[in-house]
Amino acid sequence: MSAPRRNRDPNAAKPLGPIPEGFEAINGELAIGGRRASDLVAEAGDTPLFVYSRAMLDARMARLRAAMPARLAIHYAVKANPHPQVIAHMAGLVDGFDLASGGELAILQGVGIDGAHISFAGPGKRPREIRAAIEAGVTLNCESETEAARALEIGAELGITPGIAIRVNPDFDMRGSGMKMGGGAKQFGLDAERVPALIAQLIDGGADWRGLHIYTGSQTLEADAVIETQGQVLDLAARIAREVGRPCPALNLGGGFGIPYFAGNEPLDIEAVGAALAKRFADLPEELADTAMAIELGRYLVGEAGVYLAQIVDRKESHGEIFLITDGGLHHQLAASGNFGTVVRRNYPLAIASKYGSQVTEIANVVGCLCTPLDRLADKAELPRAEVGDLVAVFCAGAYGATASPMHFLGQGPAGEMLV
Ligand SMILES: *Cc1c(COP(=O)(O)O)cnc(C)c1O
Repeated sequence: MSAPRRNRDPNAAKPLGPIPEGFEAINGELAIGGRRASDLVAEAGDTPLFVYSRAMLDARMARLRAAMPARLAIHYAVKANPHPQVIAHMAGLVDGFDLASGGELAILQGVGIDGAHISFAGPGKRPREIRAAIEAGVTLNCESETEAARALEIGAELGITPGIAIRVNPDFDMRGSGMKMGGGAKQFGLDAERVPALIAQLIDGGADWRGLHIYTGSQTLEADAVIETQGQVLDLAARIAREVGRPCPALNLGGGFGIPYFAGNEPLDIEAVGAALAKRFADLPEELADTAMAIELGRYLVGEAGVYLAQIVDRKESHGEIFLITDGGLHHQLAASGNFGTVVRRNYPLAIASKYGSQVTEIANVVGCLCTPLDRLADKAELPRAEVGDLVAVFCAGAYGATASPMHFLGQGPAGEMLV
């Protein structure tokens, strides 16, 4: 990762993040899935609008499959983008779904996904969510002794043996990850040293032990960090299984594959990750020899396939700076505004969609329509001159956009969403 640029000149341009591969210009306009942004907006009838590209989802999965060992199942972490059409499309691409709430389970059921292909993690699962999951045949990734006991109790009430995997809080986290979810005191999972005793207890109690879930972090771009962590996860899983005295039926190795959001970010080398994993799989200890292996990815699968389109409603000047004011904003794009887990605000990839590929002629701030200075989509971006009516595209909007932003803030409501 490159160091943030330090500019002495307060009026100097700030770099935009890298636009993902796969977008083109048609008649000087951004095209998504072969269709011009203005046509997509006309079809949707309004802006702001999220557009997700099937072709880009397909291309991403094809490359990932080619890079990963055939033995590795690829699961989609639904919270990244739970739009039903996206899920229905992903159902034809991935081997399973990981979800984190009863609400997400209801969406998957609405799309007709079989519970046999679903696992459910998340601290604080409510009894009715556990009940719905057990009824649907979903694997529960239990996060505590209390939750495991609750699952057994609900299973007994229903007369169904619950499938239970244990989410482990490992003693390590993913180096270089944007959001750490393992290592030290955490609300996720059960501390590693307490896991074997709980599994032994579950097996004695007649539960169907489905294996382990070890998630260590998100948004890593460093292959070496992923490789190192996956190695540690395999070692830990083998150690736990050895203590339990049984082979591990299934292991969810976590995910954490990142995408480049900011200037200087380089894409994750998934070919290197896949090669290292294949090597490890070729030399597994007895406890893991027949284990069903999976990774769970959210943003890596869907993030780059989405674009957020907003329309410019005003163009103003203030103290020598230009402000392009859009009808969108942080209520749909909290992460791009810099208010979702970032310390220093940096620009996401962004373009004037209606002048895509046009020459850069000015430095402008692109902002949203909310009454808060936090509502920024790009600071001091080098852009072609844009006018009222032009469309702005924010890229990397396929994950943690529509449902991870406070859409009801200031009474704004949701953006449109479209799969093309
Ligand atoms: C959020 C989350 C994911 C998905 O994270 P991405 O960074 O989008 O890949 C996967 N697994 C678990 C347990 C999560 O909490």
